[in-house]
Amino acid sequence: MPTIRFRTLEKTMDRKPVEVKELTAKRSELFGINVFNNDSMRQTMTKEAFISVQDAVLLGKKMDRKVADQVASAMKDWALSKGATHYTHWFQPLTGATAEKHDAFFEPIGDGKAMEKFDGGQLVQQEPDASSFPNGGIRNTFEARGYTAWDPSSPAFIYETTLCIPTIFVAYTGEALDNKTPLLKALQAIDDAATAVAKYFDKKVNKVHATLGVEQEYFLIDSAFADSRPDIRLTGRTLLGHTAAKGQQLDDHYFGSISDRVIAFMRELEIESLKLGIPAKTRHNEVAPNQFELAPLFEEANLAVDHNSLMMDIMMKIGIRHNFEVLLHEKPFAGVNGSGKHNNWSLATNTGVNLLSPGRTPMNNLQFLTFFVNTIKAVHDYEELIRASIASASNDHRLGANEAPPAIISVFIGEHLTNVLDELEKVTKGKLSPQEKTDLKLNIVGKIPEIMLDNTDRNRTSPFAFTGNRFEFRAVGSRANSAMPMMIINTIVAKQLRDFKIEVDALIKNKAMKKDDAIFNVLREYIKKSKRIRFEGDGYSEAWEKEAAKRGLSNNKTTPTALRAQITPKSIELFEDMNIMTKIEVEARHDIEVEEYVLRLQIEARVLGDIARNHVVPTAVRYQNTLIENVQGIKDIFGTSYKETAKEQMKLIQSISNHINEIIAMIDDMVEARKKANKIKNIEKKADAYCKKIKPYFDKIRYHCDKLELKIDDELWPLSKYREMLFTK
Ligand code: ADP
Ligand code: MG
Repeated sequence: MPTIRFRTLEKTMDRKPVEVKELTAKRSELFGINVFNNDSMRQTMTKEAFISVQDAVLLGKKMDRKVADQVASAMKDWALSKGATHYTHWFQPLTGATAEKHDAFFEPIGDGKAMEKFDGGQLVQQEPDASSFPNGGIRNTFEARGYTAWDPSSPAFIYETTLCIPTIFVAYTGEALDNKTPLLKALQAIDDAATAVAKYFDKKVNKVHATLGVEQEYFLIDSAFADSRPDIRLTGRTLLGHTAAKGQQLDDHYFGSISDRVIAFMRELEIESLKLGIPAKTRHNEVAPNQFELAPLFEEANLAVDHNSLMMDIMMKIGIRHNFEVLLHEKPFAGVNGSGKHNNWSLATNTGVNLLSPGRTPMNNLQFLTFFVNTIKAVHDYEELIRASIASASNDHRLGANEAPPAIISVFIGEHLTNVLDELEKVTKGKLSPQEKTDLKLNIVGKIPEIMLDNTDRNRTSPFAFTGNRFEFRAVGSRANSAMPMMIINTIVAKQLRDFKIEVDALIKNKAMKKDDAIFNVLREYIKKSKRIRFEGDGYSEAWEKEAAKRGLSNNKTTPTALRAQITPKSIELFEDMNIMTKIEVEARHDIEVEEYVLRLQIEARVLGDIARNHVVPTAVRYQNTLIENVQGIKDIFGTSYKETAKEQMKLIQSISNHINEIIAMIDDMVEARKKANKIKNIEKKADAYCKKIKPYFDKIRYHCDKLELKIDDELWPLSKYREMLFTK
């Protein structure tokens, strides 16, 4: 009887190659054709409406209803001309990727007639059924309903015949229920704070925006393999499976054309992304077998976050067309490199200057150092909050688990800049002095070469590394929404820059210091104060764990512990002070994340129990029966000497029984532990119980299942094996 594994393989072998439309079109002609961008707006809108949208985008100005009606009408005409039939307010709820509720433009107007309608009201605000989205108890407390509101800074786009309007999602009482709202506030905060500081160097600067380039890692496996694995289907990762023997690969004849298929997938992904205005660059990633990366060019951070969320969605859909399962989980395969989402972050002015790019002159470099050192100081002061911003059940498999970046947050800046900071720190010892000579320090400041991109040593183990003209936050999980870590980075750097300006201004005013002396003096103190966050060595090493502990850096290895940093008085003060979130919002968000952790582990525990009980144990029993029959037969032939002849079979029978006994006993124990944990009312304590009392069973149960996988006849094993899923060409 064929097993699931082979049934699904047959299905895959029939697949037809997918034809990619627009394959030969010029990429530049495809770029943004499905986006309601400035060009489309200019073509379809009155000048008044266009300027109004620009003001809303660039200056955050409100738009009046009449203009909104005009914009809506232009948007509708454009969308209809592109074949759209529906529209939706597209947003990013606190769990899951993106959400949308589609409404048709079509409306009956009586007399058996109908027309396409869409007005300013429908553009600006909508009411999805908020009850189905997580709100951390906010709505229950306030009896509030939620609504979505247009975010004009991210352009509308058409995806699969639906006009998607990027929106925020808030409760009627004003609390944010999504990822975008606090991000937008943080981006406003960094604009204000960084612009004020950038004016020290150039009065023409009147806007600073955060830039973000997201490198998205993912795995591709044949969807037939995923079909044979309930764990992948339901949890996004393999809960069991023995690692493939080294260098072992599945015979080519099963999937001879896999690399062509991957290329076809990537091409289509690239084309779809480009049409939606996502500046995609695809390429192969060689870290792990069947692991790839897509790194679009950087954009303004809000747009880049939207584009990354959208891209994850597109990847899944295009994967289906190509019979691929796209695995965005941080650790789909034990013992194989996991996936991250590197967030490349910098600050750019309206005058076109990258504030984290070293310049040609000492003055430019003082500007660079200002933003560089302030960022390091911010990371230093809020390292625990940064760690919390990337905490999730799935990212726990990377962070703190001997895997790319550790759970300890540190900053890598490379040898050259380390030397610069070390020298600067030594310029004067002791008190700040207005009489200080500027020559020496400008010398040092002047020494930073303009382009350092190529001479920064790449330290792949660092969670937060300076890479020549930007910081690269590498610890973000592959399936995370970048809004959260970006909200944190921009908020803490905004606060830091604000504090910096206050200190510098005070020195200028009270100590009659020259501006760059004042700047320099404050920076020097920051360099000293934030030194412990800098680390250039091997982030995976045990030595670093010890050293970091000595330095007093946090090492929060699990999500429940890491998340606590979100609700400390220090964090709440930061969010309230910077006008990002209220205490209620911060606490609600924290509860949602803790709850999500519990839910994920709960699902994993159930799925693992099911697979072990319903797939592994029965298969083991079946194989054991074959062995028993075999021994019985040997006994019939050889009589009493069968014990010697069937020695190995009998050992195998015994060992299979041992594994089965262990597995069943542990599943029973795990179920008991879950029952207990489920009774806990306090969500934090419940998460702790799941982390400490339930999660440890996963590896133990897996151990025995994986041993059985090695012992049992390959033909009987019901789940696709690692070597099949990973080692395909
Ligand atoms: P690497 O693999 O060396 O880290 P990649 O080219 O894969 O480099 O990715 C680098 C990412 O950093 C790209 O998305 C790129 O657009 C982005 N990036 C480059 N400059 C900036 C910047 N100033 N701000 C934000 N992101 C940037
Ligand atoms: Mg990178």
